[in-house]
Amino acid sequence: MRKAIVAGNWKMNTTLEDAALIIGTLVQLQAPKSDVERVIIPPFPWIVPLQQPVLDGGFMLGAQNCAVEDQGAFTGEVSASMLASFCTYVIAGHSERRHLFGETDDVVRGKLLAILRNGMYPILCVGELLDERDAGQAFEVVDRQLVAALKGSSKESLSELVIAYEPVWAIGTGRAATPDDAQQMAAHIRDTVASLFDIGFAQSIRIQYGGSVNETNAGAILSLPDVDGALVGGASLKAETFSRIIDAVGSRRS
Ligand code: PEP
Repeated sequence: MRKAIVAGNWKMNTTLEDAALIIGTLVQLQAPKSDVERVIIPPFPWIVPLQQPVLDGGFMLGAQNCAVEDQGAFTGEVSASMLASFCTYVIAGHSERRHLFGETDDVVRGKLLAILRNGMYPILCVGELLDERDAGQAFEVVDRQLVAALKGSSKESLSELVIAYEPVWAIGTGRAATPDDAQQMAAHIRDTVASLFDIGFAQSIRIQYGGSVNETNAGAILSLPDVDGALVGGASLKAETFSRIIDAVGSRRS
């Protein structure tokens, strides 16, 4: 059985004081859990000061982005090799990186390789724009992103891969995908991964849904057969809400 994974992407939000308070409250609210990995993905500067409280509280730490290269004259970049002492997970290809900062499929692949090369686990984000969904191209777009990111890597190197299906129109909009749409795309992603590697590997990787997950819709989303967790933005900034989303994993597999 795939272990559930719920990750909170704080984006460019919180002061250090806010961040410490969220973690402190979450740790108080959350009983130890063996059925779900809980990941906090704060802004870069909070990774070091939060490391101890996050780990002590039974959570894992992730980063929102990383550079393609490991070191050098790349002003403003943070490399995967720098993150490796602190983080377990790194997001690659978040839609805000793709669409606001022009990250191409090739760049996303470079970041995925940097994460793997440095011994961390990628959360690879894929998802279509609203126009693409309306034009019936959602599967095609997601397949293009998957193939571009994964082609050429071995399944051994990708053994801890997490794929987050995040339809762009659902991120930060309050309009989540329906459970049917989320399940359909998650199953499709598994089929595509199976065609790139094999069915056993496709069944072993974890797929998250992301896009306006909240405490009301989390139960339905987290009980979908091909959805193994959630990537949560806005709702992860409120400890009580994020805690209830994590607890919704309990409603998952019977
Ligand atoms: C995200 O940042 O990946 C995300 C899904 O954001 P939100 O939950 O706010 O839609």
